[in-house]
Amino acid sequence: MTAPLDLHDRDAPIFAPEAFRLSDVQAELIARARTFGRRVLAPRAEKHDREASFPIENFRDMHPEGLLAICVPKEEGGLGADFQTYCLAAAELGRYCGATALSWNMHVCSTLWSGALADDLPMTPAERAAHNARRRTHYRRILDRGAIYAQPFSEGGAAAAGVVAFGTEARPVDGGFVVNGKKIFASLSGAADYYGILCTERAESEAASRRNTLYLAVPADANGVSVVGDWDPLGMRGTVSRTLLLKDVFVPEQEMLMPHGVYFQAATRWPHMFLTLSPTYMGLAQAAYDFTVAYLRGEMPGTPPVKRRMYPTKQIAVAEMHIQLEQTKALWFQAISEARPNPTKEQVLRAYAAQHSVMENANAIATKALRTCGGQAMLKSLALERIYRDSRCGSLMLPWTAEICRDRIGRQALFEPGETDE
Ligand SMILES: Cc1cc2nc3c(=O)[nH]c(=O)nc-3n(C[C@H](O)[C@H](O)[C@H](O)COP(=O)(O)OP(=O)(O)OC[C@H]3O[C@@H](n4cnc5c(N)ncnc54)[C@H](O)[C@@H]3O)c2cc1C
Repeated sequence: MTAPLDLHDRDAPIFAPEAFRLSDVQAELIARARTFGRRVLAPRAEKHDREASFPIENFRDMHPEGLLAICVPKEEGGLGADFQTYCLAAAELGRYCGATALSWNMHVCSTLWSGALADDLPMTPAERAAHNARRRTHYRRILDRGAIYAQPFSEGGAAAAGVVAFGTEARPVDGGFVVNGKKIFASLSGAADYYGILCTERAESEAASRRNTLYLAVPADANGVSVVGDWDPLGMRGTVSRTLLLKDVFVPEQEMLMPHGVYFQAATRWPHMFLTLSPTYMGLAQAAYDFTVAYLRGEMPGTPPVKRRMYPTKQIAVAEMHIQLEQTKALWFQAISEARPNPTKEQVLRAYAAQHSVMENANAIATKALRTCGGQAMLKSLALERIYRDSRCGSLMLPWTAEICRDRIGRQALFEPGETDE
């Protein structure tokens, strides 16, 4: 007798290495993420979704796999993944547990942005040396003891969209900063060891400016740090994104994740940094499609082996989903492949288009999957219902919400910088 087929046994890479011309090193890393997702994340995803509990054991298990240090440079002891490789690996995790992949993204960005991305930005030799020494401290915590970093930027106002300075402020004092403020939707709240916050560095007499945005790791156990509020959302429930309060928190200078003024440079010169929320949703789009194929073939574990693939309406729906998935993959792959400092206007508009497409299409494909598979597929015992809810969250995430992407594409396509009709 043959062993029963696991739902994920047949999962091929979302981006086949040969077809997408990936190197052997990339292919290995991405396969490692896929295997980890199938083996470790998938079986635990339902529980954390139901309980809205943070999947801390997934992060503990990532440590020996090297996945917490995927973007820590090789010479520092990490896996040294570049932007594109990270995105492809993250999509594979998103396929199996959206909440873990999204939370992992928050952690990984603290290493990617202070690592490969910061290497592309201008700094004086002294600034670079100080930055490299500081980031080594963060990397060692991750490598040696599996420390977890969160990325709470949002405040509920216009700052997370990049319009005004962050209301959370860091006042320079001897040896560091005193931080005050509030962050909403702090994924990994209560679980992270460090909160990589964005705040405005501001001396008493100074005006608040976006140019003085500081990217700072606040130790979770520092005096004045607290997590408040409940967390009972529609989707991405395992991210446990509660509210973080910072009251007169002293943060030593060595906790800077980027030197003074460099975050503003990054946001201006390296805009693809904001595409890093999208891989999770690329994975969810693939997961919704995979689910539908398995379900219509009568191969969904936990359901009777009833085939539904012979109906032309089902075949047409799957074809439409396939076309939308391939369109999304192609655009997204192009956008993540051209991430670099000082991209052209065309590349930036393509990045917005890719972000918009992934975030909107993930939910569109999941919606079609439910409609196509039918009533039994929406039971909470099956993954599709969770994928559907999780996928709804993508287009709401700042700074590149679907609305903001459309807004910017339209404006920048029609107006060159400085142009007006006045
Ligand atoms: C599951 C989940 C996890 C999250 N985790 C994190 C996290 O770890 N860290 C973090 O920092 N944030 C996180 N967020 C927050 C997220 O990035 C947004 O900040 C949050 O969803 C914004 O909600 P809001 O209602 O305050 O948005 P608002 O600022 O009220 O915006 C509402 C909508 O208005 C539109 N809008 C806003 N500003 C503009 C503008 N300037 N121009 C045009 N349109 C605009 C946008 O489309 C936006 O969706 C998470 C969100 C979710 C759903």
